[in-house]
Amino acid sequence: MTEQTPETPEEKPQEAPAPVPSQPQRPGGRPQGHRPHRPHQQQQQQNGTDLTILIPLYNEEDSLKELYQQIRAVLGRMNIRYEILFIDDGSTDRSFQVLRDLRRNDRRIKAYRFRRNYGKSAALNVGFERSQGSVVITMDADLQDDPAEIPALRRKLDEGYDLVSGWKKVRHDPITKTLPSRFFNFVTRRLTGIKIHDFNCGLKAYRREVVKTVKVYGELHRYVPVLAHWEGFKIGELVVNHRRRRFGKSKFGVGRFWKGFLDLLTVLFTTRYFRRPLHFFGMIGLMTMIGGFGIDTYLIVEWLLGKTWLGNRPLFLLGTMLIIVGVQFFSIGLLGEMISKAQQRDEEYAIRDTLR
Ligand code: UDP
Ligand code: MG
Repeated sequence: MTEQTPETPEEKPQEAPAPVPSQPQRPGGRPQGHRPHRPHQQQQQQNGTDLTILIPLYNEEDSLKELYQQIRAVLGRMNIRYEILFIDDGSTDRSFQVLRDLRRNDRRIKAYRFRRNYGKSAALNVGFERSQGSVVITMDADLQDDPAEIPALRRKLDEGYDLVSGWKKVRHDPITKTLPSRFFNFVTRRLTGIKIHDFNCGLKAYRREVVKTVKVYGELHRYVPVLAHWEGFKIGELVVNHRRRRFGKSKFGVGRFWKGFLDLLTVLFTTRYFRRPLHFFGMIGLMTMIGGFGIDTYLIVEWLLGKTWLGNRPLFLLGTMLIIVGVQFFSIGLLGEMISKAQQRDEEYAIRDTLR
């Protein structure tokens, strides 16, 4: 992945608590050992960044300044060390210029720009890698997510969750978006067993461990909670305020539904069945075969009893076909198992703690 970092040279550790020279605001740093919301001391980074606000953006020039001001107003009251990390996903408008101007006055702003538009997942992925905070909160750049929710999200994490997902209970989006979204959330909830209502909310809070473990690739940003759940992290939910989009337009068209569905299959496959493909294909194969055997046995018994003649029973064809298809599904499962075994790697089991 290529990205430009014209204004952002490699981060120097001593830069992190950067006081803001041109602003009469409280400097970011404050004495160690005085922090509320900090039960997980061991996760803190050496540079002591408490919070990263991570914002993927694509052509959002009109929203950025106001978004920054709202975030700063909220964080200014929180007495923590933070960074605001913008990932410009190849914007073709003035977005990056706006970020450049903002950074001139506030070194806590960091920004990366992709050479082209890779998608929200890519932006989140890079943002996760580059973030330094012991807590990372993602939000959309279009002002639909409300920065005022930041303190509540952080408090919720401290209740013992690793990931807290926002729930846009009252949504300000067109019905063509909210209705399919309800359906998706329902299906995803049923298939993954994760009890949250709004998988695709842009506003989410993560413990550092989560963002350093989960890899968001393809277009899987819709299913980050599923990926995190699969890694063993504890997922929580918090109702958040949602606002109407004021500038620009949504970056995802109707294509999102098909892609969303395919991505759900991908995510199920790569999490639940990745290491046991036979459980998936084998189950389908067995069911099909049993069905076929059942049908054919019944017909053969009738034929033996002289009640029927197999040549004029189309059902016999169906039974035979089911057996063949079943065998094929089963074989695919076995092949999958062989591939899976050949690729076995050590690092795929997440070890949480070690005593030795
Ligand atoms: N976004 C992005 N890359 C893309 C598309 C969108 O970084 O290719 C960003 C976008 O700028 C916004 C967030 O992802 O900050 C959510 O996008 P949008 O508001 O268009 O989605 P919606 O609210 O319609 O789900
Ligand atoms: Mg939006």
